[in-house]
Parts: sequence; structure tokens; C-alpha cells
Amino acid sequence: MPARLSPSRHLQIRRSKAGLGLFARVPIKKGQFIVRYSGRKITTEVADQLDTRYLFEVNSRWTIDGSSRRNRGRYINHSCRPNAEVYFVKHVIKIRAIKNIKPGDEITYHYGRDYFDSFIKEVGCKCRACRKKRAEKRAEMRLRRLRRKARRHR
Ligand SMILES: [Zn+2]
Repeated sequence: MPARLSPSRHLQIRRSKAGLGLFARVPIKKGQFIVRYSGRKITTEVADQLDTRYLFEVNSRWTIDGSSRRNRGRYINHSCRPNAEVYFVKHVIKIRAIKNIKPGDEITYHYGRDYFDSFIKEVGCKCRACRKKRAEKRAEMRLRRLRRKARRHR
């Protein structure tokens, strides 16, 4: 495990179930800093006029516009059962592991209830936990249909 992650060597941007995602190339230990959510610092007032998905509010006054592609943090997808979390060091937004992460794992954090309710809920969450839940539900429905059918044929 590297003591300090190099975003270009130890992290990888590639396709995931929810568009592009950020993946670990090396083991990352629980608690370890992964990457910054970097970008220009603008007032939340200015941010409210912008139309980009990559605005990250630091507080009621300041927002980070993370829409630059150099900001690797913007590739991190939401998960309802994430392996990372956001924390602030003054006005700097950082992401750290909350579980041990294996090479090849996608890095995710929870975007928060407000974001989830406004942007994710309606289109359906694509995180692994929710996909699994949906697959289980489908399997259960299928089973129920089969049982109904079996009863009818008795
Ligand atoms: Zn989910």
C-alpha cells in the first residue's frame, strides 16, 4: 500500500455502471486520504447561477466548481453503501476511505440526502447496493409468478 496515493498512478478513471467512475489500482486502507475534490472556489451565490452537476457546496457562502476534468474527485459516483466519505479541511474538500479498498474496486461516497432526493431518486440509483436490491426483488417476483402459475396448473 502506498503511503501517499498518486492520482495518476494509483487511481484510474474508467467506465462503471453509472457512467465513468474512479477505481483503485492499489489497496487503499480504511481512513486513508484518496483524492481532493478540486476546482475553483466561487461564492454560493454565483454557483446558484451555474448549470453544472459538479458544484460542491462547502458552506452557505462558498462552493467549489469541480467541473474541470483534472478534478478526479468528480468521477467518484454515489453509492448508498459507499467505501469512502467526504471531509473538509477548512475549505478544501477531501475524500478518504471508510473501508479497506481492493485494487479494481470502484471508489464511491454517499452524495447526501438532498442530492439523492433531487437528482438520483427519480431516475433510479445505479449503485451496487440498489442494483442488488432490485435484482433480488425481480427474482422474488419471478418466483411468485411461477408459484401462481404452478397453483393454476394443479
Ligand atoms: Zn443506491
